[in-house]
Amino acid sequence: MTKPLCIALATPRVLRWFGLLMGMLLWLASTQVQATSLSLANLPDGALGQFTEFDQDGSATLAQAQQRYQQGHFQPGQAAALNFGLGARPVWVRLALMNPTPQPQTYRLSLGPSWTDHLAVSLVQHGRVLQTWQGGDEQPGALGVLPGLNVGWTTALPPGEFELWVHAQSDDPLQIALQLHSPSQLDQARVTVHYAYGAMYGFLLALAVYNLALALGLRQWRFWFYSLYLLCFIGANISYTGHGWVWLWPDLPGVQRYVILVFMVLYGVTGLLFASHFLKLPQRLPRVQRGLHAYALLALLGMTSCVVADSHLAATWLAFAFVSSFSVLMLALGAFSLRAGLVAGRYFFAAMVAGLLGSMLTTLTVAGWISFTAIHFHAVEVGVLLEATLLALALAQQFRQDQIKRLQAEFMAQHDALTGLYNRRAFVELSKSSWALAQRSGRPLSVMLLDIDHFKQINDQYGHGVGDQVLVGLSRTLASSCRAGDVLARWGGEEFIVLLPETDLEAARLLAERIRQVVADESARFQHPPMACTVSLGVAQYVAETHLEALIERADAHLYQAKRNGRNQVVAG
Ligand code: GH3
Ligand code: MG
Ligand code: MG
Repeated sequence: MTKPLCIALATPRVLRWFGLLMGMLLWLASTQVQATSLSLANLPDGALGQFTEFDQDGSATLAQAQQRYQQGHFQPGQAAALNFGLGARPVWVRLALMNPTPQPQTYRLSLGPSWTDHLAVSLVQHGRVLQTWQGGDEQPGALGVLPGLNVGWTTALPPGEFELWVHAQSDDPLQIALQLHSPSQLDQARVTVHYAYGAMYGFLLALAVYNLALALGLRQWRFWFYSLYLLCFIGANISYTGHGWVWLWPDLPGVQRYVILVFMVLYGVTGLLFASHFLKLPQRLPRVQRGLHAYALLALLGMTSCVVADSHLAATWLAFAFVSSFSVLMLALGAFSLRAGLVAGRYFFAAMVAGLLGSMLTTLTVAGWISFTAIHFHAVEVGVLLEATLLALALAQQFRQDQIKRLQAEFMAQHDALTGLYNRRAFVELSKSSWALAQRSGRPLSVMLLDIDHFKQINDQYGHGVGDQVLVGLSRTLASSCRAGDVLARWGGEEFIVLLPETDLEAARLLAERIRQVVADESARFQHPPMACTVSLGVAQYVAETHLEALIERADAHLYQAKRNGRNQVVAG
């Protein structure tokens, strides 16, 4: 009689194989659970987009979303932060979790940026909804917003397996960056965020206020626009981090809806105005400057109409399009300043590159193309800090260059370019105090006029270059013969003048005679080839003239007399 089949199957060998098969199945089942539900015991760092599934069907209710999930419409999230772009359709995101402990565990579920219009979360266990929460910036109260740490919901997560269903909708960039923080992690994150933003705002505010003071003091537009540019960045930043919403306008969803977008446009506008003044475009590229101003004005008008008409989506598109084109324009202006070799052009270009790199890194992070780390996500802020510092250096260098130019211009206005002596205008100006003193106190004061003899012949015979050398040499001789209080100047072509305070006629005549002698003796020293060079001098002492010009006229008359007497001599009187 053959044994019944069941007994045959029950032999120890078959049982062993059966046990092994069951074990494998159980193991497979358990790995499957691990693949879909994330344990609270070992949460990865950063956002959890890769562990989610999502659907952009726009289903309004949780039941509909769950049905679509059952039907396999959800797709796995690929990036840490799920980015759906501007004006995206509403999205459902499902995150399966497992609390391996027997107690509920408190966590903060970070959902997404503070600008998200509507956010709702349902905690579901074994098909039952345990808790729900709602937030988003279309309702007052800044619910669940921790500045710098996105919108979030703090709750007790039950033991065992459960799911979080997140529903989000936004005209602004729709981004879901789910993250779980334990209370201690949250404390740590808050401290870090407070310090980091405190340092950043402190730095930028100090720079903005300092440049505002410079703008008021120096009355230069570039400092004014630089300061406004920084303030607009701070405005945009406090708007999108949630600082503004929590601290300044928690009960004004209407403000929250547009404030980021308005600040983005203002940031671009002030940036363009700053660049146009910093690069002196009105003088260098007037047409480009007019184009930039028209573009900025158009953006402002566009944003104003969007706000007045309350068309949020249009405002969003406008702000993002304008700011993107603004970055490209600023980089192009930076490249222009570098190519044109402008003062501080290198700093300006480096600043633009730093700003653009920072915002690109953050954009790539948000888009999920590079890993979602704190450094990558905050690259835009680091970029702006670098940009602000480099622009401050650029302004400082430009200011220094302008200062040097101004000093040079002042020097040129007072001095003769060939000899470096004072010119006629400076002589008149500098003589005023000595003249006033002589008039008031009756102290002696003399004037000496000097003219080179037959200078025309020197020019004709040896050329203008040699004539110039003679003028320079003579000016040195004169400078070394004068005292500290004397005012020596080039009066005209080959005519020099010296105002001699505290000097009577005799002393002045002696000085003139000494100069005449020195020139006659040393003329060969400062000329190539050697030539005879003499000077004639007229000297006059102040008596009762009402004006300095009258005294100079008298000295001139004596000089004329010296010429008539045969030159190379001094006539004093
Ligand atoms: P006199 O003895 O009567 O003063 O004769 P002069 O030739 O010195 O006087 P005149 O006024 O006839 O000529 C002055 C010349 O000085 C004419 C002009 O070309 C020359 N001159 C004026 N300024 C400069 C200059 O900056 N450089 C040179 N090389 N020559 C100059
Ligand atoms: Mg919004
Ligand atoms: Mg002469």
